Amino acid sequence: MMTTQPFDEDHLGEECGIFGIFGNEDAAAHSVLGLHALQHRGQEAAGIVSFDGKEFHAYRSTGHVADHFSKESVITRLTGHAAIGHVRYSTTGGSGLRNVQPLFADLQFGGFALGHNGNLTNCYTLRDELTKRGAIFQSTTDSEIILHLMATHLRGNVVDRLVYALQQIEGAYSLVAIADNLLIGVRDPLGVRPLVLGKLGNAYILASETCALDIVGADYIRDIDAGEMVVIDKDGLRSMRPFGPTTQRFCVFEYIYFARPDSIMDGRSVYEARKKIGAELSREASIDADVVIPVPDSGVPAALGYAEESGIPFELGIIRNHYVGRTFIEPTDQIRNLGVKLKHNANRAKVQGKRVILVDDSIVRGTTSKKIVEMIRAAGATEVHMRISSPPTTYSCFYGIDTPERSKLLAAQHDVAEMAKIIGVDSLAFVSIDGLYRAMGHAARNADQPQYCDACFTGDYPTALTDQTGGGKVAQLSLLVTEKAS
Ligand code: AMP
Repeated sequence: MMTTQPFDEDHLGEECGIFGIFGNEDAAAHSVLGLHALQHRGQEAAGIVSFDGKEFHAYRSTGHVADHFSKESVITRLTGHAAIGHVRYSTTGGSGLRNVQPLFADLQFGGFALGHNGNLTNCYTLRDELTKRGAIFQSTTDSEIILHLMATHLRGNVVDRLVYALQQIEGAYSLVAIADNLLIGVRDPLGVRPLVLGKLGNAYILASETCALDIVGADYIRDIDAGEMVVIDKDGLRSMRPFGPTTQRFCVFEYIYFARPDSIMDGRSVYEARKKIGAELSREASIDADVVIPVPDSGVPAALGYAEESGIPFELGIIRNHYVGRTFIEPTDQIRNLGVKLKHNANRAKVQGKRVILVDDSIVRGTTSKKIVEMIRAAGATEVHMRISSPPTTYSCFYGIDTPERSKLLAAQHDVAEMAKIIGVDSLAFVSIDGLYRAMGHAARNADQPQYCDACFTGDYPTALTDQTGGGKVAQLSLLVTEKAS
């Protein structure tokens, strides 16, 4: 769910995790656990809305899940057998409490709470239309558009109205929602963002990733399909296909970086996928060296795969301090550079006098790689080679992975040889796009109908980008002014 970012306009999106449960008297406590497991998907804010059969109860806060939701006073307030939860990560600006999800609205049919992972690509355009018709927005999130579309569709029950709203929107969305004695889960027609279904006794659970099922001891039943809506009530689960037949374009970057390695996505272990990409990278870009070193933590499985395939020993040559935040959160380049040093230190004993292969999952701005390479050289490495377990990130994501605008993407501005110079390595290589698809179990990328959304590597966006090409910009500008003035 995207907000406008008035103070940091190079950032295009946010990352989120969602959780929902129906049919368990401790619904909120289970949601807190689920959100703990999904914390990697968003560290800026968290929220839960529960329903007790009569009333809805909400608690939303900025900060980590553990900062607020471990308190008994909070959990005991969130009574009920149904709940949804949300974690969110944005950069700076637009991060006020009014944007923290789940969103809640009292609509004609009653209360409705919504949690959204993904970004809409026609939100400014729709927002412009809605405000012209008199809609008063409470937040700057694109997700609120869904509530307004439901409110202004004057017919039908909650499901009919939600379907109507979803038929107007473009982009990526996995949603969880609760209404009077209902839990609803939806994936967009391309299934860009994940959503899985689990069961705990008689209770149904929906979550962004299976690691959130594991933490509450629930069984993984299946992934919600692309374009599927599930409606869960006391009589069980109903599956609907409101968009007709659809073709899946799941985000391949979830496998590369974003998801937790212990999650299973679309029946495939994220950890195994990362190892396979690392092995493919070793076959495509082998080099003689003494040691394979992962950039922690996200580079670890790919480095293991690379080491196994190449026969070069794997060592933890960089040690991570787990008690500092992600460098991405830092607002200026200067602080971001410092952040990398705060976060990592070279393990001199495994680096000195060695020809090192560093493995990481991606290069975005190049800040991390540059600092890591300096650090490894300072620790006495004789050669430093960098291997990246994704193709070059050359396009921004508009579907819910936080990326800077294109001009800030190193690979959009430089070829691989130039990047190697900037980063300061003896050699640099990325897995090829077909190598990535091979590692994922496909013969190659199907250019006519790609099996995944890989727009950040290819620029092949699977939905219209109406806000980028249409009149949405005007609405965006006025929104920035509004936000700054408030
Ligand atoms: P950069 O320093 O800008 O090149 O960012 C690359 C580093 O950030 C890599 O180590 C990745 O693991 C990590 N990374 C890649 N994509 C993201 C993202 N969307 N959010 C946070 N970190 C990321």
